[in-house]
Amino acid sequence: MCGIVGYIGHREAANILLEGLKKLEYRGYDSSGIGIVDYKGRMALRKAQGKIKNLVALISRNGLPQSHLGISHTRWATHGIPNDTNAHPHADCSKKILVVHNGIIENYESLKEALQKKGHRFSSETDTEVIAHLIEEHYRKDLLEAARQAIRELKGAFAIGVISSEHPDLLVAARIGSPLVIGVGKEENFIASDVPAILDRTRRVIYLQDGQIAALKKDKIEIFTFQGKKVSPKIHTVNFKAGFAQKEGYAHFMLKEIHEQPGVLQQMFSARIKNGRLALDGLRLSDGELKKINHIVIVACGTAYHAGLVGKYWIEQFSQIPVWVDVSSEFRYRNPIVDQNTLIIAISQSGETAD
Ligand code: GLU
Repeated sequence: MCGIVGYIGHREAANILLEGLKKLEYRGYDSSGIGIVDYKGRMALRKAQGKIKNLVALISRNGLPQSHLGISHTRWATHGIPNDTNAHPHADCSKKILVVHNGIIENYESLKEALQKKGHRFSSETDTEVIAHLIEEHYRKDLLEAARQAIRELKGAFAIGVISSEHPDLLVAARIGSPLVIGVGKEENFIASDVPAILDRTRRVIYLQDGQIAALKKDKIEIFTFQGKKVSPKIHTVNFKAGFAQKEGYAHFMLKEIHEQPGVLQQMFSARIKNGRLALDGLRLSDGELKKINHIVIVACGTAYHAGLVGKYWIEQFSQIPVWVDVSSEFRYRNPIVDQNTLIIAISQSGETAD
């Protein structure tokens, strides 16, 4: 679950991007990076392994040209080790297009092979880099159109942000499967993986929908489907506090989350207790169907997988029904033994993981 923050407007981009990235730290990451395009169309890129403070230190050592357009990223590596080179943004061969990406491009190997045959040179191990080269391949002076064409060739779940030194007045964003929100400002607009990143700047947001691509200028937002049909977006006003995304005095997010557990459990159960009994009516399973269940499979990844292991002990103890816990990234690629009386419980900690 990585973080994307993008900015186009009248203010200095780097500060806004770095502040935004810090608000997304709760999502976890292994490296971070920032790419900007200035008025004259000059592009600059800074990337650093580890905490955002390493990126901040790099920028204060090497400087970063003033600019009003940029994209930034906190990476959680899926393809390629966490290092400076694999950190985002990624560039095309001409070093004119920059891309940040959240998610996985499932068909990146075949795309990469085809692009390499056409002469594209890759510099990272990521799946993300194919997006930059694919946009370059489709580029005929129209960045939005090239991005739209490229996206149509991608398979997987992703949210992306794209800028180009040939378009110092344009920020392109798109999503399918991974979250992306657009912040609507005055003479400035934003993109982010989650609302807290931009909440200090604007409370007016557009939730980009799956299969949509957006063209952001500082004073204009246009949204299209991947097929190119224009859509009119709904602007929401956000009125929640961003407290959940801050450490609030705790040394780490993990510590904060551990302390939050009693409250979270109480909240979860209170919505499901009716007349003193746990009501599972949201499941839309009849008592008869529940009684027929002969085994249960809990499918989850990472932390959610470990929660599943605890769940197995409890469910088996109370129901005497055998429970398997399976890693979801494996489950989806094999041929699991399940039948119509198997109950599958899918757990996602973030609610965003493709698996
Ligand atoms: N799959 C991409 C990578 O490994 C993006 C990972 C992410 O969502 O941070 O670089």
